[in-house]
Amino acid sequence: MKKWFKFPLIAIVLILSLSLVGCNDNGDEADAYENGDTISGVFTGTGSGHGGDIVVEVTIEDGEVVAIEVVEHNETEFFYELPFENVIHSVVVDGNLNIDAVAGATLTSDGVLEAITEALEAAGMDIEAMMLDGQDGGDEGILIELETDVIVVGGGGAGLASAVTAAQFGSDVIVLEKMPFLGGNTIISGSGYNAVNPRLQEAQDPPVEDSIEFHFQQTFEGGDELGDPELIQILVEEALAGIYWLQDLGMEWQDDIFMVPGALHRRSNMPVMPLGTGFIDAFQNFIEESSYVEVFLNTTVEELIVEDGHVVGVRATDADHNTVIVRATNGVILATGGFGANIEMRMYYDELWHVLDDGIPTTNFPGATGDGIVMGEDIGANLVGMPYIQLLPFGDPETGSLSGLIGSSMEDHIYVNLEGRRFIDEGARRDEMSAATLAQTDSRMYVVIDSRTVPTGAEYNFFGETHDALVAAGRIHRADTLEELAEMIGVDPEVFVQTIEDFNAAVDAGIDEFGRTVFHGRIEQAPFYAGARMPTVHHTMGGLQIDAYTRVIGVDGEVIPGLYAAGEVAGGIHGTNRLGGNALTEIIVFGRIAGESAALQR
Ligand code: ADP
Repeated sequence: MKKWFKFPLIAIVLILSLSLVGCNDNGDEADAYENGDTISGVFTGTGSGHGGDIVVEVTIEDGEVVAIEVVEHNETEFFYELPFENVIHSVVVDGNLNIDAVAGATLTSDGVLEAITEALEAAGMDIEAMMLDGQDGGDEGILIELETDVIVVGGGGAGLASAVTAAQFGSDVIVLEKMPFLGGNTIISGSGYNAVNPRLQEAQDPPVEDSIEFHFQQTFEGGDELGDPELIQILVEEALAGIYWLQDLGMEWQDDIFMVPGALHRRSNMPVMPLGTGFIDAFQNFIEESSYVEVFLNTTVEELIVEDGHVVGVRATDADHNTVIVRATNGVILATGGFGANIEMRMYYDELWHVLDDGIPTTNFPGATGDGIVMGEDIGANLVGMPYIQLLPFGDPETGSLSGLIGSSMEDHIYVNLEGRRFIDEGARRDEMSAATLAQTDSRMYVVIDSRTVPTGAEYNFFGETHDALVAAGRIHRADTLEELAEMIGVDPEVFVQTIEDFNAAVDAGIDEFGRTVFHGRIEQAPFYAGARMPTVHHTMGGLQIDAYTRVIGVDGEVIPGLYAAGEVAGGIHGTNRLGGNALTEIIVFGRIAGESAALQR
């Protein structure tokens, strides 16, 4: 069973940059030597990623892959480490080429895999033999039995928040994570965290007026009043405390307050680290220093163990096909996330869109398959809100990911369709923006911004990518005039310029034909940017019914003793439509409650 080790982010960045300096393209056959029947040598392969060629050097000793170095790549900053590490780990440690791509970085994952495969082919390795069926293709495993106070199923944001909290309350905790890395969808999220934060909101120019009541009202009404008011009240009241708790764990936050798209108000707090890496990094640091939390990766929980009506443990399978039985004295927390990546399940439950087949990509990573919902339902848990699935209006049309989105806050951008016209209030609810985008030609639109929020091009987007890098990779367009930009995206320049003029007039008048009320000034400062986007599956609002202690409720309306749920696996908070920026708040607020409740056996 493979235990977790803290992935050294900085070390990998260093190794990658050092490798770039010492790049050697001629490593193939020249360095290879035959050793009896086995293959040894350094072999080079090339694949294509987001930013062009990815070149690797694969070191083989006596027929075994012992090291892989990425010697050349132009992937965008911050987010290349995870797919590189995932693929390299699988090939070097497990000898396996049959690997799931890391969502949000599918092209990077596929590119590095392609490069490694080419190098292995050049070496004359048996590629077929490395396409393992399971994660390591081993024989039947053994039975491993473990005991702890609290089991956490899933090592994303909610799971790690609950694990850390349970440990802070003195419990021994085992986290079981099915993927080869921690972070789940949380680590690839846009990272906006809604919390009324008067100290920062009042310091903005102009100051932002807000209140807990207003956050409640917008969350409740933004979900068509179908969310559970008791849970929403907890969400909005505990949001700021969650930020302070994370700060105590070492997480850093920006001083600016944003309005992430669909947030409806300027109360999105932003971490300093990109995407959700700041959350996961803080949790990993705690876990590394704590003797209370053990993490097992590549370990898929398949079943809850119930005795006398109490959930007392789980049955899992690890990468070596071992059966892992873990028993918990205090309780089991399900934090397995949503089912946005499970096409069958989302088509079965969806009642909003009726188009969620494989033609609609997802922002989610491949692990978001609804396992916890199914396991809970199997033992009698009640499901709520299942028909409500959120589409994000601005996913990457190719991969579904948030990656490549331009700008930093909704105030700075507009959406135009393939005819060059605006069609919606860009500050609207996510479901309204997605429905409007689906109704446009090819369900596509362009996000358009000017240079006020991207003065140099070196600024990062939500996804930790610089605009310069995205332009260089051909993923977005940049032009010195609106007419030029129109040509680049294939729309009539006259129509496009008129659209911008109309928008600027709306900014000046403060009255917009689409009802937009939040503006950040005119679009007039060159250069101008545009990036193609489309609605992609983002969040599943339905899941296990929980109470204020995150205890899971059965179909009989009674608490299921020993079972807790937090994060996207739980349903009922957001109603039909989750506000942008409320998910990270949810995973922290309810993750903490779950950890405390399980530790104290509430
Ligand atoms: P949340 O935002 O609610 O925390 P995430 O998607 O961030 O959700 O995290 C959920 C985590 O649970 C992911 O890392 C995912 O791989 C993991 N997971 C899902 N199903 C299982 C399972 N059956 N066994 C173990 N881990 C699981």
